[in-house]
Amino acid sequence: MILQDPAAARVVQLEAVQGDITCITVDAIVNAANQTLLGGGGVDGAIHRAAGLELLAACSKLKGCETGDAKATPGFRLPAKWVFHAVGPVWRGGDYGEDDLLARCYRRCIELAREHRARSIAFPAISTGIYGFPSDRAARIAVGTVKQGAPGSELELVKFVCFDGNTYSIYQRLIQAG
Ligand code: ADP
Repeated sequence: MILQDPAAARVVQLEAVQGDITCITVDAIVNAANQTLLGGGGVDGAIHRAAGLELLAACSKLKGCETGDAKATPGFRLPAKWVFHAVGPVWRGGDYGEDDLLARCYRRCIELAREHRARSIAFPAISTGIYGFPSDRAARIAVGTVKQGAPGSELELVKFVCFDGNTYSIYQRLIQAG
């Protein structure tokens, strides 16, 4: 899907891909981190393994991160130049501000992309693994938030990297729906 960002008067391409985010060559990949930023399971563990121990050293200097926020480090051994570590909400049934906190993660990463002059960014399906956020609802928030645009950013490409086929088909449907 090609998105015209009215605020920035530029074209941003949205793509769903199925695979491992640690292998994606973009300027920045997003990590679904936890508040400690010291590594964990799921995509977080995969990113730390692929980036090497320097990533842990860089993360430990950041002194954690609030839910709904994100912080940047270099990508070290990853193909991506930057990692934006976003802390998504734990799903608690939907009445605890989870939707808003998840949207804030995506918005914050788009802001970090602008600050780091990234032209391409890849997101995992934040919060939909260990944190239990329903995949369909999370994907609608992810795509909806990214479509709101990125004023002042140089972003040209946003990839949604889906680990499993079900998540991939959800994103495909949403992106094709325009
Ligand atoms: P959270 O704690 O935010 O739920 P998880 O890492 O448990 O984070 O899961 C987030 C999403 O990332 C899930 O959809 C999971 O299937 C997916 N995932 C796990 N490993 C990878 C990977 N290497 N690349 C891309 N996505 C991944």
